[in-house]
Amino acid sequence: MKVAVDTHTHTVSSGHAYNTIREMAYMASQMGQEALAITDHGPEMEGGPHKYHFHNMKILPREYYGIPILFGVELNIMDEKGTVDLPDWLLKQLDITVASIHGECYGKSRGIEKNTEAYLKIMQREDIEIIGHPDDGRFEVDYEALVDMAKKTGTLLEINNSSLKPGGFRVNSYENARRILELCKETGTMVVLGSDAHVDVDIANTTYSSKVLREVEFPEELVANTSYKKLMSVLKRRR
Ligand SMILES: [Zn+2]
Ligand SMILES: [Zn+2]
Repeated sequence: MKVAVDTHTHTVSSGHAYNTIREMAYMASQMGQEALAITDHGPEMEGGPHKYHFHNMKILPREYYGIPILFGVELNIMDEKGTVDLPDWLLKQLDITVASIHGECYGKSRGIEKNTEAYLKIMQREDIEIIGHPDDGRFEVDYEALVDMAKKTGTLLEINNSSLKPGGFRVNSYENARRILELCKETGTMVVLGSDAHVDVDIANTTYSSKVLREVEFPEELVANTSYKKLMSVLKRRR
């Protein structure tokens, strides 16, 4: 399955990623990508940029090397109420938003009910479009409830390639990604493929995610980012 727009990538601004916007965009254009989303970590992640970093992104060129860049963020989900680490007014200014649970900000798992509640609250927001790595078994989730809400709200559930790398630090990612894909296939719910690249050569990498897609014979029409046009037509803020 070929990804035309990677919806989850990091730059030096995240503190633990290694390329600039320009380097990431150059690699994406060299790879023949139709566009690229830059989604650096929100301010609560150690080493992440200040909120004004995101506020000031409006000064950046809309295109680099002939491809559009979607300037976004990977928000930190802070609690079961679905609090995130950038204010609403700022999210409105961005092109794309991913929200994820990271232990560094959310703390330890709060149990399946509260973890699920956090995601469901987030998904009901119009300004948050993608749930990042919901496969992470360290934070148990009711996947039926998650997929139901994804379908209802048009929030995209991410199949995260980095989670599936051998030796990855997330838990049960393969089983959980497979479960999400099976439920999405059954209910006709869209997913998105994110590389979670922290280095340019990892952009649009689907080595592991596409393997799971093949195993469940996941239909291509339910993958939101196989073209730029398709992605733009399904992002909540563009509908
Ligand atoms: Zn993440
Ligand atoms: Zn990430």
